[in-house]
Amino acid sequence: MKFQRNEPLKKHTSLRIGGLADYFFQPKNIEELAEALELARKNKLPVAVLGGGTNLLVLEQGFRGLVIKLGRGLNTVTIEGSKIRVGAGVLLPNLIVTLAKKGVGGLEFLAGVPGSVGGAVVMNAGAWGKEIGQYVAEVRVLDHAGQEKVLKKSKLKLGYRSSLFQNSNWILTEVLLNLRRKKPKLIKERLLYYLTKRRASQPLGIPNCGSVFKNPKNDYAGRLIEAAGCKGLRIGDAQVSVKHANFIVNLGEANAKDVIKIMTRVQKAVKERFKILLEPEVKIMVKSAT
Ligand SMILES: Cc1cc2nc3c(=O)[nH]c(=O)nc-3n(C[C@H](O)[C@H](O)[C@H](O)COP(=O)(O)OP(=O)(O)OC[C@H]3O[C@@H](n4cnc5c(N)ncnc54)[C@H](O)[C@@H]3O)c2cc1C
Repeated sequence: MKFQRNEPLKKHTSLRIGGLADYFFQPKNIEELAEALELARKNKLPVAVLGGGTNLLVLEQGFRGLVIKLGRGLNTVTIEGSKIRVGAGVLLPNLIVTLAKKGVGGLEFLAGVPGSVGGAVVMNAGAWGKEIGQYVAEVRVLDHAGQEKVLKKSKLKLGYRSSLFQNSNWILTEVLLNLRRKKPKLIKERLLYYLTKRRASQPLGIPNCGSVFKNPKNDYAGRLIEAAGCKGLRIGDAQVSVKHANFIVNLGEANAKDVIKIMTRVQKAVKERFKILLEPEVKIMVKSAT
């Protein structure tokens, strides 16, 4: 087993920002993942996990330890009627298209959400009033000691863009989804409907990390940020998108400091104007327990 050294993490985040990981590894299967964790434990290396890196801000100092990217290796999809078993590394857009072709529907509302299936469950990704958690039956996980467990949905503490995994050292390796049989033609129509809505409102094509802040109760972070006068706010090459104020885009050479400065300015402006403290949705890769 060989870890890559000094891997630029900006290559692995949709914001195209981030310093080097001391060690970087993409396991080909669960056995390799368990082995990598074991090696990290023996060498006292902190471990961080990423999927598609589409909701992640990596700082300029990168990560002093082992970054594990779950992708190509954990990418099986098994359809058993309306129960779908999916490796955590499967890309969500690929899953949605595969299921559409096989006449399995339910996740169309997530059309256009990038990233991995594992990341989607960790973040309880959602759109248009629905969340992936509604369709999760159980998940398979490994802890940093390489112990495997199956957790039923009731144990996952799924909430608005939150789950148990955001405060644990478990690595999600597989998800069992409960979906529905539908006509492929109907699924494709729904996909097109949701993709069109998304294209109209989001700055696709410019590096970003999706919504930066969670929506506060009964309101929208984007609306508050715009009303507080922050739409278009630019620091270095980081900018509050002029298309959707809850997105920060990287216009070229933005760095994590610029993004964090913008986030702080936005929080301050919204707090002053509306007395609401916006809570970040984007995750910052800092450190992790071994
Ligand atoms: C253009 C764009 C549009 C977006 N639209 C939406 C939207 O509509 N709705 C929405 O909810 N999100 C949206 N997002 C955000 C993002 O795509 C989702 O949160 C996505 O599900 C994250 O998956 P990921 O694999 O990229 O996770 P990453 O960004 O890689 O990781 C996110 C967090 O999960 C952890 N993690 C990832 N995989 C695992 C794993 N297997 N086990 C344990 N921990 C893990 C990471 O350590 C990190 O803390 C959007 C992003 C972009 C760029």
